[in-house]
Amino acid sequence: MATAISELTTMRLGGPAREFAVATTSDELVSLVRDADESGTPVLLVGGGSNLVVGDQGFDGLVVKVETAGLEVSHDKLRVDAGVEWDRVVLTSLDAGLAGLETLSGVPGSTGATPIQNVGAYGTLTSDLLSELTVYDRETRVTRAWLPQECGFGSHRQSVFKHSDRYVILDVTFALDVSTTSKPIRYSGLADRLGIDVDGLAPVSEVREAVLQLRGERGMVLDSDDHDTWSVGSFFINPVLTQIPDKASESPTYPDPLGTKLPAAWLIQNAGFGRGYGKEWGTGSVALSSKHVLAVTNRGGATTAHVMAFAAHIREGVEKAFDISLGPECDLVNCRFG
Ligand SMILES: Cc1cc2nc3c(=O)[nH]c(=O)nc-3n(C[C@H](O)[C@H](O)[C@H](O)COP(=O)(O)OP(=O)(O)OC[C@H]3O[C@@H](n4cnc5c(N)ncnc54)[C@H](O)[C@@H]3O)c2cc1C
Repeated sequence: MATAISELTTMRLGGPAREFAVATTSDELVSLVRDADESGTPVLLVGGGSNLVVGDQGFDGLVVKVETAGLEVSHDKLRVDAGVEWDRVVLTSLDAGLAGLETLSGVPGSTGATPIQNVGAYGTLTSDLLSELTVYDRETRVTRAWLPQECGFGSHRQSVFKHSDRYVILDVTFALDVSTTSKPIRYSGLADRLGIDVDGLAPVSEVREAVLQLRGERGMVLDSDDHDTWSVGSFFINPVLTQIPDKASESPTYPDPLGTKLPAAWLIQNAGFGRGYGKEWGTGSVALSSKHVLAVTNRGGATTAHVMAFAAHIREGVEKAFDISLGPECDLVNCRFG
C-alpha cells in the first residue's frame, strides 16, 4: 500500500507517495537521491515534516524519509547527521556541558532542516552556532563540506537551501561554548520568565525549561492531543519590505538586511483575525491556533485544499487591510494559495 504523506507531517496533510524509502546512513541517502535523479524520478526529502504542506494528490515520485542517526561530541563541537531529531541534539549538548543551543529547545523537526530556513527562536539563529555542514549537490553530483558563509543566510528565514531542492544536507556541525551558563538572553519575554535583565545570563538547564514553558503556552511544542500543534509553526513569513504601505504605518518594524521586517502576527491580528479564528469558517476543520495567530492548524479531518483556501482567505484579509501580501514560511509541495 502507498505511504500516505499525511503520516509524515505535523499538519497531518498530504496524499500518497508513489514510491517511499527510508535513509538510515548518509551514503544511503545520497545513493537514493542520485539513483532517482539518474532515472528522472522526482524526489521529496522529509525530516520531521514540521515545515511541509503537501497537496492532497500526494507526490508523484520518491519520498525519502531522512533517518540518519549519527551524533558525535568532540570538545566544543557537535557533529550531527541530518536525520537526528533536533530537540535530542539540544538535550545532548546540555548534557555534555555545552552552551549555545538552549534557546532552541523544543523546535520540532530534524537537524538537517535547521539551516534551510535558518531556524531561530528566542534570540538565537542556527547560523549563530553553525561551523560546517556536509552537502550533496544534485546538480554537480558532488558531496563536500560547506562553511556557513556559503549558505546565503542574512534576510529573515532565508538561505540558499530554502525553496530549492538542489541540495541534500547530510550532516551539520555546531561550535558551542564549554559552559553550563547560557549565552546572553536577548529576548525580553524569556528574560522576564527567568527573572533576569535582557542580556543577562542563566544556567542552561533553567533556560531550556523556561523556553519549553513559553513554547508550550503558545502551542509551539508538538503534542498529538493538542490540535493547536497540528501545524507547521508559523505558516506565514514575516514580510520584508523596502517600502511600507501607508495603511501599515502603525505596524511594529524591525531592521533586516533586505529592508524592513514586519511581524505577520501583528498584521493578521489587526486585520481582524484573532486566535482561534476559523472554527466557524468553511468546514471548521482548519483554524488559527487558539494560542498563536501565526499557526494555521488542522482541527481534525482537514485536507490540504481546505488549508489553502483558508490561507488565501487570511492573505486576502491582510491585503485589504494593509496592502501587504503574506507569503508562506513553510514549504508547499503540489499546493498553493492565491
Ligand atoms: C509546533 C511547531 C513549532 C515550530 N517552531 C519553530 C521555531 O520556533 N522556529 C523555526 O525556525 N521553525 C519552527 N517551526 C518550523 C520547523 O520546525 C522547522 O522549520 C524545522 O527545521 C523543520 O524541520 P523538519 O525536519 O520537520 O523539516 P521538513 O518539514 O521535513 O522539511 C522541510 C523542508 O526541508 C527539506 N528537507 C528536509 N530535510 C532535508 C535535508 N536533510 N536536506 C535537504 N532538504 C531537506 C524538505 O524537503 C522540505 O522542503 C515549528 C514547527 C512546528 C510544527
